[in-house]
Amino acid sequence: MDERSSTEKARYDFKKAMQEIVDLKGRGTELISVYIPPSKMIFDVMAYLRSEYSQSSNIKSKSTMKNVQGAIDSIMARLRTYKFPPPRGLVIFCGEVPKAGDQTRMVQHVLEPPEAVTTFYYRCDSQFYTEPLMGMLQDKKTYGLITMDRSEATLGILTGSKVVVIKNFDSMVPRKHRQGGQSAQRFERLIELAAHEFFKKIADNATEVFLDKPEMMGLLIGGPGATKDYFIKEGYLHHELQKKVVDTFDTGYTDEYGLRELVENARSAIVDIELMHEKELIQKLLTEIRNSDGGLSAYGEEVVRGATLAGAADVLLLSEGLNKRRIYVKCPNGHRYQCTTPSSPDRTECIECGSQAEIEKDIDLVDDFFELADQFSTTVEIISADSEEGEMLMKAFGGIAAILRYRV
Ligand code: ZN
Repeated sequence: MDERSSTEKARYDFKKAMQEIVDLKGRGTELISVYIPPSKMIFDVMAYLRSEYSQSSNIKSKSTMKNVQGAIDSIMARLRTYKFPPPRGLVIFCGEVPKAGDQTRMVQHVLEPPEAVTTFYYRCDSQFYTEPLMGMLQDKKTYGLITMDRSEATLGILTGSKVVVIKNFDSMVPRKHRQGGQSAQRFERLIELAAHEFFKKIADNATEVFLDKPEMMGLLIGGPGATKDYFIKEGYLHHELQKKVVDTFDTGYTDEYGLRELVENARSAIVDIELMHEKELIQKLLTEIRNSDGGLSAYGEEVVRGATLAGAADVLLLSEGLNKRRIYVKCPNGHRYQCTTPSSPDRTECIECGSQAEIEKDIDLVDDFFELADQFSTTVEIISADSEEGEMLMKAFGGIAAILRYRV
């Protein structure tokens, strides 16, 4: 799977899983969450789980004990299929949640997160432990950060919700009060010269840190007062970086704390950029559709599926709000087929012969397309449901469209 599709899938799976589990409550302290960083050895995790398993025999309530042990068993069974954690680690949620009446059902999610897991956690609680993931779902891309005034500058990088300081340095610009013996004019000139040198230093550092980062979506500039605007207006930055400047934002500080202020204040600008990417994709689709022959466009589930299977789909545009299942059916008389349904059926009759049929596979429709796309090197883009473009994709095209490599 290409990198773009892989993070899109991780984010999609995560959002879906979050929607399902965030409000779930167990009858007792019996819902298990495990976070495994990529560097953690699977056998270490197994050893940890075995020890939790034996400790759980002290649990007073028999049903809680049984459920905790069942969940640990189930997690260990899944972990046996891994030699190492995937590159960004693993997150597992597993446990029994109440269903109608006295019944419970087992919930299990094994997820590869969109950002790397940094800390190992094992939690057994009446709710799933989801806090470390919430931040991962906000923004997906990388942004360059600069906070500056005439005395200090800090360069950093925002990835997802994480701010990392790369460089911090002070200037040699003298304070604004003059020492005896210097003429006011000469002092003024010295200050300006020193400021100019400092701005050049900031720009040089920015080139070093940010220029070789094609994945960087934009550059955010912060600081108190007008200095930052002067810095941008006078074109100190490398011209490639200058083009990436999203905007300037007022912050009270120019240190690490200033970087955090900058991200906070730029929040809505960041959301706009992410939406812009979706907007461009939908615009591209519409431009193709407007061609008299339909251009390089396809829409509607069956047409897009056909185009993908023919290897003709370059980019799939799928609405996050699709919420359907793809069902793979096999009947005792040997009939096999697939169909899309609004929800998971408990049972199904063969459409060919009417006999009770077996559901071989029941998968989220978007995940089904991810699997299909993977076989044909097709990129998948998930379009958020709440934007104008997302709404159009859903209403006009049933939530499924494609930009084609060639016409089919
Ligand atoms: Zn049949």
